Amino acid sequence: MRYSVFDTHCDTLCSVLDGGKSINSNDCHVDMERMKEYENYTQVFACFIDPIYRDSAVERTLKLIDTYHQSTNNLPENVHAMLSIEGGEGITSLSMLRNYHRLGVKIAALTWNFSNHIASGAFEKDNKRGLTDFGKTVVKEMNNLGMFIDVSHLNRKSFYDIASISQMPIIATHSCSDSVCSHVRNITDDQFRIIRESGGCVGINFYPDFLTEERECSAQDIVRHINHFMELGGDENIGIGADFDGVDKLPNGISGVQDMYKVFDRLKKEGYTDVQIEKISHKNFERVLERK
Ligand SMILES: [Zn+2]
Repeated sequence: MRYSVFDTHCDTLCSVLDGGKSINSNDCHVDMERMKEYENYTQVFACFIDPIYRDSAVERTLKLIDTYHQSTNNLPENVHAMLSIEGGEGITSLSMLRNYHRLGVKIAALTWNFSNHIASGAFEKDNKRGLTDFGKTVVKEMNNLGMFIDVSHLNRKSFYDIASISQMPIIATHSCSDSVCSHVRNITDDQFRIIRESGGCVGINFYPDFLTEERECSAQDIVRHINHFMELGGDENIGIGADFDGVDKLPNGISGVQDMYKVFDRLKKEGYTDVQIEKISHKNFERVLERK
């Protein structure tokens, strides 16, 4: 396929580690066989730290990082991989953070949906709870290391706390627009403005609950969110973060990476230029994360 893709979030590593799936070919949403059909495919693989691993989070994080390196040591020529952490329970100290960075972690989401010793997640009921004192030192050290902070799962207060101290472009690897579909996991217009002004980017999530309040969901709903962010002046700040293998349902007609092209075909039909589509499909996140 003629499209190139930069997808900033999948949970496939958990299916490899826990489900014994092969990253090369499987019945999940993502595998190398299907990614290599594209012109180029860059996938950010997340080490998702499920709260059930809270008491052994360092070990769990290290196991998933090992799974990442085992899975990506022989990539097809046109497939590229990047490593992220989703859930900071394993960041028990700044030295542990630096060790993860040495092992190749480029991006870290400081929480999943719940709160921890670093920050507060999207499901936190106390809207005054944001970054902790330790969390502030984590943000500063990530800035020093050049690690990106992923705000996708944070509550609003943590987002604003980070925005006020972080010097790096802010990214949301897998979130949609709260104005199009109201959800605590989605990004408000004001948050999008701040991300845009930081030079960052939002990867549109394909999970139907974040895309629409209707029962039916299709690729057109993904386009609606892209349209809205475009209206906010975001043509340099929109990407894709499908959340493949982290969701139990997807829009009609999309069953995995093999259907990603349908979103770009729809953008083309809506009148988006090839240059705009290239930015959304891969160039915006390349610019931010690979500093191109
Ligand atoms: Zn997630």
